[in-house]
Amino acid sequence: MDRGLEDRVVLVTGGGSGIGRATALDVAARGGVPAILDRDAKGVTETAALVTATGAHALELPADVADEDAMRDAIERTVSELGRLNGVVTAAGIFDGPDLQPLADVTLETFNRVLSINLTGTFLAIKYALPHLVRSEGGERSSLVTIASTAALRGHGFGSGYTASKGGVAALTKLVAVQYGPHGVRANCICPGAVDTPMTNGAWDDDASRARMKRAIPLGVVAQAAEIASVAGFLLSADANHVTGQVMAVDGGSTAI
Ligand code: NAP
Repeated sequence: MDRGLEDRVVLVTGGGSGIGRATALDVAARGGVPAILDRDAKGVTETAALVTATGAHALELPADVADEDAMRDAIERTVSELGRLNGVVTAAGIFDGPDLQPLADVTLETFNRVLSINLTGTFLAIKYALPHLVRSEGGERSSLVTIASTAALRGHGFGSGYTASKGGVAALTKLVAVQYGPHGVRANCICPGAVDTPMTNGAWDDDASRARMKRAIPLGVVAQAAEIASVAGFLLSADANHVTGQVMAVDGGSTAI
């Protein structure tokens, strides 16, 4: 039975933790081969072990998404070792504490640090993947899935660097859909709301935070990483063959309020 991504190679940045790890596992469950990229080499190895424990294959790519040479090399290595690249999911990102200050108090250094990873890192992954994702006319489409945030959709609750970076990721995704749609590349952006991962690190564990979260999310719970990954898996697969240029909140309804 075709599980949707049979033998497709998918690069997953941020694959050493949280949403990226769950996405690597989802890709493998659909029959694909995840190339797991993260600056956390231990996290990469742990995710690869979880994937191989299911009987699937994985490639380990310890690398920093903000390092241009490292990104070019990692993507070339993926293609030379696995023979192709059919999809990319860009989940690497940071949520910087000092960035949560009012904009006038955020230092340029903090702003640039967040941008360099969340936005420039996404740009580099896309830039070096695209030549491999482009398909000849009539060939099977390839798929880019970026992970932004509901910060791309609203002005409340996030830092200025984080908000700007995620808005940029959503806009870049639409640009790729338009520029590369004619070359067989689909591009879609997922905007998660609150997700239970090491990044959020038990942020809803106390009673007051839990009550606030329940008021802010119509479904009443934060997402599990696998619930974001399954949407990424769908967008990677041919089930989403006519879906491109979309910025899609996966947020339990929080942006509907
Ligand atoms: P996570 O568990 O912290 O995973 C992010 C991974 O990206 C970590 O392994 C992190 O490594 C890695 N990373 C950070 N900077 C990197 C770099 N320069 N190069 C390579 N890898 C790097 O967080 P997550 O919650 O899964 O977040 C995944 C994505 O979803 C992020 O883009 C985040 O902004 C977005 N998102 C998350 C939520 C949420 O509530 N969790 C909501 C909306 C959007 P380190 O541990 O070394 O930093």
